[in-house]
Amino acid sequence: RAEEKLKEANKHLGEQFGEIKILQDYLHEQATRDPLTGLYNRLYLYTTMERELARAKRENSPISVMMIDIDLFKDLNDTHGHQAGDEVLKALGRLLRSSVRQGDIACRYGGEEFIIIMPGVDEADAERRAEAIRHDFNNLCINHGGAELFSAISMGVAFYPQHGNDMNEIVKAADAALYEAKRAGRNRVHI
Ligand code: GH3
Ligand code: MG
Ligand code: MG
Repeated sequence: RAEEKLKEANKHLGEQFGEIKILQDYLHEQATRDPLTGLYNRLYLYTTMERELARAKRENSPISVMMIDIDLFKDLNDTHGHQAGDEVLKALGRLLRSSVRQGDIACRYGGEEFIIIMPGVDEADAERRAEAIRHDFNNLCINHGGAELFSAISMGVAFYPQHGNDMNEIVKAADAALYEAKRAGRNRVHI
């Protein structure tokens, strides 16, 4: 009888562990995702970036970092409302998720700024892919409350190891490139 009881208790414990695991995964997901776009958040970006950088150093492989900022987003909010702005953010989130490949990390960095980390991707490939994302978003029609919205993004791209040895340096370089893209007239990619 004792053995039977033990088996029963064991089974129960196993089920509880299963539930805890599901809850843990859910909490992890909540802690690492941006709720509006479903992309990763900044916290997740920095922890994974450190790991990717360490790997790139070991394996002598490149990393491309793309910084993305929606053009004149304040005007869009002012003209069509904050909810319309949110729809545009979600649409960009969907586009970025469908544009990344396995191993890439797409995250919402801040309000209307996004970063994509592409481990193993070199300059030529990164430029092509950045240009494709810019083009696709520019041609995307976003429906909101009967209105058809169009928007655009500017992108700054920097690389490990050319532009820095740690993540802060590389993100700073991508940000500087983004600034140049804005200055040159927006809706463009600057390497
Ligand atoms: P630029 O082309 O130079 O980037 O101009 P901009 O208007 O996009 O830049 P600015 O930094 O002036 O405006 C960013 C705006 O993004 C202001 C802020 O209200 C809006 N924003 C930030 N987070 C959110 C959000 O979650 N939802 C909405 N709808 N708007 C947001
Ligand atoms: Mg901005
Ligand atoms: Mg902007």
